[in-house]
Amino acid sequence: MSIASLSSIQESPSRSYPLVSRQSHPNDTVVTVGAARFGGGHFAVIAGPCAVESREQILETAHGVREAGAQMLRGGAYKPRTSPYDFQGLGEGGLELLALAREETGLPIVTEVMDSEDISLVARYADMIQIGTRSMSSFRLLQKVAQTGKPVLLKRGMQASIREWLLSAEYLLANGNDRVVLCERGIRTHDSEFLRNTFDLSAIALGHLETHLPIIADPSHGTGRADLVPTMSLAAVAAGADGLILEVHHNPAEALCDGRQSLSPATFTELCSRLSAYVDLEGKQWSPFCLAG
Ligand code: PEP
Ligand code: MN
Repeated sequence: MSIASLSSIQESPSRSYPLVSRQSHPNDTVVTVGAARFGGGHFAVIAGPCAVESREQILETAHGVREAGAQMLRGGAYKPRTSPYDFQGLGEGGLELLALAREETGLPIVTEVMDSEDISLVARYADMIQIGTRSMSSFRLLQKVAQTGKPVLLKRGMQASIREWLLSAEYLLANGNDRVVLCERGIRTHDSEFLRNTFDLSAIALGHLETHLPIIADPSHGTGRADLVPTMSLAAVAAGADGLILEVHHNPAEALCDGRQSLSPATFTELCSRLSAYVDLEGKQWSPFCLAG
């Protein structure tokens, strides 16, 4: 179907995202990145720091999460910070360090792109490209990222409805890329005193009814609190998540970004072993390498 013919489809909840809709594609899509498989009964864990900070930090964390059972490494080289005075990421230097960590651990990497200018550089290093919550509605960025052909991790906008999120995914599929994993990462509601966001578990359950694409959960940004991440990870699995993305730092107290929501490698290891029973209960299969340590 051409983009022109798709755009003529009348607006109606189930028909406005024809490529993403489960109506047009009843079977689950499975997205594979290295050893990680998401969707169709497969489950995988992505873990790593919010931001790549140094060689020592990324290597130590990468080895820790690999041993605990993660299938992919995360880490931001370009960071969308609320304040221009906060650490903005190491840029290309951060991408090089991620590549080094991949070489040492075998873990494929996912990292965020914020600006169209950086897409070809990021695509040279990344195994999967992350679209962050602030960029979910940057439609030109979505089109260009789709065209790289790389798998895409599409986070839900913090103010976005489920329909808007699915329409952003439709932009990716309409531009020829169906290797898309959706990620619920919390939305803004009114309690910001205790919680950074409201982690919307119903979006995962509802999402599975509406779309064939895999949906993973990010309880780190979803809650903003390391002490809630284990419980909400288990809850996300029960709600049907096809995987998790978790912030892990070798020394959370010293992290340059999102330390309050980052697990230590030891806590992450403990969580991975608790998770496995829940994943089994859901009838899902861990991707290879999990719990290998
Ligand atoms: C991140 O993953 O570190 C990040 C910035 O995520 P989000 O876009 O969901 O805030
Ligand atoms: Mn973060």
